[in-house]
Amino acid sequence: MKLLENKTAMIFGVANQRSIAWGITQKFHEHGARIALSYAGPALERRVRPLAEQIGAAFVHPCDVTQDDQITAIVEKAEAELGKIDILVHAIAFADREDLMRPFVETSRAGFKLAMDISVYSFVTLTNHFRKLMNPGGSFLTLTYYGSVKVAPGYNVMGVAKAALEAATRYMAYDLGPEGLRVNAISAGPIRTLAAAGVPGFRRMYKNFVEMAPLQQNITIEDVGNAALFLCSDMAAKVTGEILYVDSGYNVMGTPKPE
Ligand code: NAP
Repeated sequence: MKLLENKTAMIFGVANQRSIAWGITQKFHEHGARIALSYAGPALERRVRPLAEQIGAAFVHPCDVTQDDQITAIVEKAEAELGKIDILVHAIAFADREDLMRPFVETSRAGFKLAMDISVYSFVTLTNHFRKLMNPGGSFLTLTYYGSVKVAPGYNVMGVAKAALEAATRYMAYDLGPEGLRVNAISAGPIRTLAAAGVPGFRRMYKNFVEMAPLQQNITIEDVGNAALFLCSDMAAKVTGEILYVDSGYNVMGTPKPE
């Protein structure tokens, strides 16, 4: 059974074949969705175009989410080329590595603003811009990480940004509920991607994860794709404002298992 037949999904954040957004894209494609892709800037086009071709996606346009004119432009293109859409996936985050290298308390003002702008505000403004193109029952989805609720050393300003992103998910679920639109987040366990490579201590975190998690397995982009499929399909028609953990159960643990 295909869960996304006759639905159109606009996906932000495919950088390469390891991206979480690519795992989601493949799953949506498999389930019959028409896919539209947006990538950060010209440097990524070389990698994203061949991926788009693999799944027959005709709509492939850049959008740097820090630029209002680029957001307006992609909304206009989407309206012209796609008409209405049913799903928007936001898989975008960024923080200055310098700010991740020092204690969180020493985060610079500019670094704080940048992380919040790209990792949080972009979801708010994309949601606000695209809601007019959404069919009833439409769904917005973002990606977060457990460093939002507990300290993950090295995650620093990104953890604070993810806490804001999760709060934004709940506030937008409230705002958009009366329009019949849903807003959710997936909190994924660590996955080796380009963005993860920028987090100091990621390798240690990745290794410790398997030792601590009840399922004793790392997370794949396919796992996240499956959860995204559920949240963005009619199977989750009454689920909104939710943070769904896809983390082999890691978040339920309080202490590591005894030696
Ligand atoms: P990724 O493949 O590097 O994806 C991150 C994306 O954000 C890239 O496409 C990146 O483009 C884009 N981006 C950054 N700045 C942008 C801007 N100004 N405008 C538009 N796009 C911009 O890494 P990922 O791990 O799949 O990350 C996707 C999401 O999952 C992020 O929100 C991340 O925090 C979240 N997440 C990741 C993990 C993990 O362990 N990997 C776990 C939980 C949650 P550029 O490459 O050009 O910067």
